Amino acid sequence: MYSDIYKLIEEYDNIVLARHVGVDPDAMASVMALHDSILLTFPKKKVYAVGSGSNRFSYFGKLDKIDKIENALLIVLDTPDIRRIDGVNLADYKKIVKIDHHPFVEKYGDIEYIDDKASSASELVLELINETQLLMDKNIAGKIYLGIVSDTNRFMFNNSTGKTFLEVAKMVQEYKLEIDKLYEPLYLRPLSEVKLEGYIGLNLEVTENGVAYIRLTKEILDKYKVDAASPGNMINNFNYINEVLVWTFFTEDVKNENIRVSVRSRGPVINTLLVNYNGGGHKFASGARIKTMEESNDIIKDLDKLCKEYKERGENDENK
Ligand code: AMP
Repeated sequence: MYSDIYKLIEEYDNIVLARHVGVDPDAMASVMALHDSILLTFPKKKVYAVGSGSNRFSYFGKLDKIDKIENALLIVLDTPDIRRIDGVNLADYKKIVKIDHHPFVEKYGDIEYIDDKASSASELVLELINETQLLMDKNIAGKIYLGIVSDTNRFMFNNSTGKTFLEVAKMVQEYKLEIDKLYEPLYLRPLSEVKLEGYIGLNLEVTENGVAYIRLTKEILDKYKVDAASPGNMINNFNYINEVLVWTFFTEDVKNENIRVSVRSRGPVINTLLVNYNGGGHKFASGARIKTMEESNDIIKDLDKLCKEYKERGENDENK
């Protein structure tokens, strides 16, 4: 499969790389690492990384604005379904490749490389580079490292396999990655976000069966001088709380006229439930968009039921 993807990269002079809306570090890292690797290997090709950006991730590299492009190959990373692809019209492309680590949702590529056991899209880019003649350097290795670190929450989630550790270890050694310097732009954050995190900790509510939730309205975001994307950056910090099995933030997004829903779990599978709310994602890390804050009540109720069933099945039994 990787050699088929490499053949297409070799064949096309114009290559566009895209990923999902609501960009996150793995989406950005996988796109920019592949972008840089294709250019390093084939300096004469025109390679564009598209999608709406975020200042927060500008250290990964500059995004491109493109008009309609002829005879191009499109490679979409980290995106299981068409509705969440950011900034491209699939009909404009001669050939489409999908490289993804989400559970399968729908087919849209001529070649689809999907491994939902992989830690991240960045890990798949690392494999693609390792298994073909695509080149790597320290800059590319650094981006891949950050993508993997971010989607595994620093190797804490069980999507970090032995293979992930081995491949990352080899890369760190070979390219002499200075991980403290790499972490700085990924983890440096304004004091306002730390204060918001304090607010969330103080105000989280927990249901009978272990669903922690908080509703973050525009007033609260304004008070803490943060934007609607900020709560999503800290949701992983609420893992490993005794009384909590599943936790969710509902954040008012005035610009997009919706409510962002982020959900994490340390037991029950949540993505199949979020599909009912115009969302999806991974088994234990999912998201959705809803129209009104009132709908959050239904999600909380459904999640609580999920936790109850999970506990009844005994999957929370420490002695198992
Ligand atoms: P987030 O909580 O936004 O970090 O998202 C966690 C995971 O859920 C990521 O894999 C996202 O791609 C996925 N996700 C977030 N929002 C949606 C949505 N509206 N529809 C489908 N998947 C989503």
